[in-house]
Amino acid sequence: MFYDQHKTKIIHHKLEQSLGKKLLLKINDNRSTLLSVKWEPSCTRVSLHHMFLQAPRDVMKALTCYLRGGNNRLDPSIKAFIETGIQSLDYSHQLDPSKLQVAGKVYHLQELYQQINETYFDRPLGLRITWFGHGKRTTSRRVTFGLFHDALRLIKINRLLDHAQFPEYFVSYVIYHEMLHYVYPAYVDETGRKQIHSPSFKKQEKKFKYYREAEQWIRENQSLLFKGSRFHYGRS
Ligand SMILES: [Zn+2]
Repeated sequence: MFYDQHKTKIIHHKLEQSLGKKLLLKINDNRSTLLSVKWEPSCTRVSLHHMFLQAPRDVMKALTCYLRGGNNRLDPSIKAFIETGIQSLDYSHQLDPSKLQVAGKVYHLQELYQQINETYFDRPLGLRITWFGHGKRTTSRRVTFGLFHDALRLIKINRLLDHAQFPEYFVSYVIYHEMLHYVYPAYVDETGRKQIHSPSFKKQEKKFKYYREAEQWIRENQSLLFKGSRFHYGRS
């Protein structure tokens, strides 16, 4: 990928100057490493996602402070910049559609997804969906039913749910929840805390036709299906 070499040079120069120390800067196109820093005695190694080439001045200023100060916590402005930037990253072209598993033994994810999209959203969201996992119960304390991978625009549903024990409305509820992660992206609030399930997200989630049934189903079947485990919806 080609980056603005001129801009990269300027940023490199500015950062190095204010650090007063040798800086090894790498601009990356990696969807999981947006910012990585290694403080070494003779130099500071920094890998920045190319979105930082467009970073506003206050973010670059906060970044300089961060690089200077060693292991201090990231400034909320950097966190917010990264979080907002993540939403605009689209690496869905890296997905191999032939590797997606949509058909299960009981449920067909693509069909359920399609139904939900038509019922609850006014436009096609254009997300992909796949099963993940081996589908067997584990003794682990946490069960992740669904995940949403922002950059890949991909919903992953635990194959454990591909069982008649799980009512269709519950599987649809999990899919709906993950779709909402796309519509209501996570953000960093003014205190620097990451808001994953925002008030608007939760409000919309309640609009699911079987919201109460699904929530009740979780409560009633928790002990039955997952001894000592906790339910978890996640984002990767
Ligand atoms: Zn969630």
